[in-house]
Amino acid sequence: MSQVQLSDVTKVYDDVLAVEDIDLAVQDGEFLVMVGPSGCGKSTTLRMIAGLETITAGEIAIGDLVVNDVRPQDRNIAMVFQNYALYPHMTVRENMSFGLRLSEEYSDEEIDERVEAAADLLEIPELLDQLPKQLSGGQQQRVALGRSIVRDPDVFLMDEPLSNLDAKLRTQMRTELQRIHEELGVTTIYVTHDQTEAMTMGDRIVILNEGEIQQVDEPSVCYDRPNNKFVAGFIGSPSMNFFDVDVTPTDEGVLVTGDGFEATLPVALAAGPYTLGVRPEDFTVASGSGHLETVVDVVEPMGSDNFLYLRPPEGDGEIVARVDSEFHPEPGEPLALGFEPADVHFFDASGKRVSLGDESEFVTGH
Ligand code: ADP
Repeated sequence: MSQVQLSDVTKVYDDVLAVEDIDLAVQDGEFLVMVGPSGCGKSTTLRMIAGLETITAGEIAIGDLVVNDVRPQDRNIAMVFQNYALYPHMTVRENMSFGLRLSEEYSDEEIDERVEAAADLLEIPELLDQLPKQLSGGQQQRVALGRSIVRDPDVFLMDEPLSNLDAKLRTQMRTELQRIHEELGVTTIYVTHDQTEAMTMGDRIVILNEGEIQQVDEPSVCYDRPNNKFVAGFIGSPSMNFFDVDVTPTDEGVLVTGDGFEATLPVALAAGPYTLGVRPEDFTVASGSGHLETVVDVVEPMGSDNFLYLRPPEGDGEIVARVDSEFHPEPGEPLALGFEPADVHFFDASGKRVSLGDESEFVTGH
């Protein structure tokens, strides 16, 4: 087990600045998920930790050891990729033990013990003598994990390990990986572009965009108190709705005006243009403080609730609201949406979320 520390880490490929000044402390035993859109620098960061990519500037330490100049095979890390590349002519047992045999550090007995313990942990002991082609995709991914587990690494580095699996299996393997992590307690850095995986798996998540860290926090904090508009829009599905608004302070708080609505909210906020952010589930149907006029386009029943796709009465833009499954407006019908002041977010011109003070500090009861 080990902590991993990145200090001012930068990576430049030719003229592409892939990762810029990353500072990150991954705790011993933590499951940290690195998430962001394609090209934001996730794989590059992981590959620098693994030693598969040189570091342009900065320092990476695993445990107490600065590893900038340590070879990948001497870092005691294990990587798990989406492409698990098992040797087709070898049995599961041979696949899992191959790396250990190569290293010549372990006796046959020790190798057998490790492989069997890993197979038990992964619940695949009955597959040990089978060939990869006899296994399902999920079973193959378990074998690939097993191959890493037998090495007893200080750190697991996982790069989109579940993205080749179908949706149902992916959900199962998410839970499975968390169980394995709980049992082994090995520091894990997990890269994905899928915000659902990040939200469900991470002790903490790191959100990257264009090579820079946007936020490092527990999933619920990223969701409830996003640092900026990028995080607000990236985390949560369907995404947060954004509206360009103007804010004018009044005696009761602020007057918020935008396309199709006007709301007085009991909050303290300086005058100016802002982006107002409202999550689909934070809209209420014609109650709450802000009233937003919309027209229903499509109603998508999800079983537990309905997604409403709406538009402003005039102009463009799509608004998404998540409402009770009992509520079924007709397409074309006008609908007024409301929201509670405590549930909405304001972002300034730079995209930064403006704190309205602690949520308990709302100006109320005038
Ligand atoms: P992600 O894993 O988040 O999709 P990457 O770390 O793969 O992102 O890439 C980050 C940026 O670095 C992208 O702009 C990508 O095009 C660039 N990049 C990645 N690998 C190389 C490379 N070997 N040579 C040049 N540019 C690269």
